[in-house]
Amino acid sequence: MKKYNYVPVIGLEVHIELSTKRKMFCDCSSEHFQIKPNTNVCPICLGLPGALPYPNKEAVKKCIKFGISFNCMINKFSKFDRKHYFYPDLSKGYQISQYDIPFCEGGHWKSSVNSVFRIKRIHLEEDTGKIQHRKIGSEYFSLIDFNRSGVPLMELVTEPDFSNINDVLDFVKDVQLASRYLEVSNADMEKGSMRLEANISLRKEETGKRDQMKRLPDYKVELKNINSFRFLRSALEAEIKRQTDILKMGDKVIQETRGYNEKTHQTYSQRSKEEAKDYRYFPEPDIPPILHQSKEIDIIKTDIPEMPWMKRQRYKKDIGLKDEYTEIFLKDRKRSAYFEQILLLNKNSGLDLSYIADQIVNKNLDLKYQSPQKLLNALSVEKNKTYASSKEIKNAADSVLKENTKAIEDLKNGKIQILGYLIGSIQKKLNGKGNINEIRRYIENALMEN
Ligand SMILES: [Zn+2]
Repeated sequence: MKKYNYVPVIGLEVHIELSTKRKMFCDCSSEHFQIKPNTNVCPICLGLPGALPYPNKEAVKKCIKFGISFNCMINKFSKFDRKHYFYPDLSKGYQISQYDIPFCEGGHWKSSVNSVFRIKRIHLEEDTGKIQHRKIGSEYFSLIDFNRSGVPLMELVTEPDFSNINDVLDFVKDVQLASRYLEVSNADMEKGSMRLEANISLRKEETGKRDQMKRLPDYKVELKNINSFRFLRSALEAEIKRQTDILKMGDKVIQETRGYNEKTHQTYSQRSKEEAKDYRYFPEPDIPPILHQSKEIDIIKTDIPEMPWMKRQRYKKDIGLKDEYTEIFLKDRKRSAYFEQILLLNKNSGLDLSYIADQIVNKNLDLKYQSPQKLLNALSVEKNKTYASSKEIKNAADSVLKENTKAIEDLKNGKIQILGYLIGSIQKKLNGKGNINEIRRYIENALMEN
């Protein structure tokens, strides 16, 4: 049998709970973390018959803002739909979601090396309740808490454009940062405010055509309920290995939904994967379609700050900051704001920005000096202390030049490498405290005068 190499084809679904005051379709508080069960509930979010839902405008605005920042097209006509399935934490028997006309469609995200990954859609839906399995006395109970039921949930779906796990991780981390920059959610994975799912299949490696033009495999496996970046990486690694082994044996991979067991580092079968037709989607009759005018979308646009990927490019291109430092600033908005003030204030101080970044990141000087200006002052004093004065440089340079008349002749005749030797000798006399540029300028001037 012919042996092939296989390439992963990965698409992602990211669920993000929006940080709105109230729930998606009622006035209950959307607070549900560590709150007494079933206290933030009403007939609407309990799914009682006859209760009428009304959409939360703030949530819709946040979803559109998120979509614009990922370069999506915003549908001026949009609507909600019912997605039917049975589960105890979904008391209505359907979830209000969006089917064929989501708020946002067709966006993209660029990695730090400018690879483009397409975003298929971003829509809004309601979260479900939460089931807790408890042992009370000697009996087992399954209890339902409806505090989370009806909390606004945004779902971002990508095209299956990812073929390596590092890109996947970079993307989901940027999605988390974006949620925080836009203040649409804290996207805290430990609290379940951000949840990840990946669908994955393998295709035979071909050369030539662009990845996005190649035919997709005829199956996909969905990995569900992944609650940390680390588990996402291990789950994808485990699943790629499992599928590779099956395909290399000449067998077919079954289309299904799988979970990840963090103890065994393996994925396990949960159920066969459902398709859209299984949900019997239809338009939500209790909520009229949602219309937006270009004007309203333009106003939301003005509210979008510099996104993490833009800041990353700026720090890289304009400042030449180390990637490691850039990522630290991007993650920590307080530090990032501090550094931004330094950028503004430093224009005249002439201190090297990489040096300042290093002092902040490695010596935590931003904590010692609350005011960025005070930090700059302190660093300037430090710098002047360490560097030799112009007079010391002049004395050291004059004596080195006097001792090396032959070398100077050679330098004048074009032996450029002599310059390095002279600078080295001068630095030696200064115990390494001279500023290289200043020493070089001094030698060049001295030669011209000679
Ligand atoms: Zn409610």
